[in-house]
Amino acid sequence: MRIDSIKDGIVIDHITAGKAMQLYQMLKLDRLDCQVAIIKNAASKLHGKKDIIKIDSSIEINLDVVGYVSPHATICIIRDGVVNEKKHLELPHTLTDIISCKNPRCITTTERGIQQIFELSDPEKGEYRCAYCDTKAENK
Ligand SMILES: [Zn+2]
Repeated sequence: MRIDSIKDGIVIDHITAGKAMQLYQMLKLDRLDCQVAIIKNAASKLHGKKDIIKIDSSIEINLDVVGYVSPHATICIIRDGVVNEKKHLELPHTLTDIISCKNPRCITTTERGIQQIFELSDPEKGEYRCAYCDTKAENK
């Protein structure tokens, strides 16, 4: 694939350098049939280095996952070879079924079928806590 020639698809730009693989796994991009390109350590005007993911298909992306892993990322939706829409992300206030609580006594661990909900407790540090037991999420 010529990575600059996506006709219809999604480019996740300005990913924090080193985070592309984590994002790839959390977005489950390995399950896609289309072409996915990961560019690591690309030169960035703003932050020195950045990662980029290009997806050659118009799929739905869980923006909360992207915002959680890399709050400074930008999502570009490509239609007919041009950027149709650009979204800037920020840390989501709530994470639903994105990360799991590590507390063995938490209700989400002891009972089945309960959503994993984390709330942003410290926007400065990007810290999240379990909505049920207040356990701090592990570092990304
Ligand atoms: Zn918990």
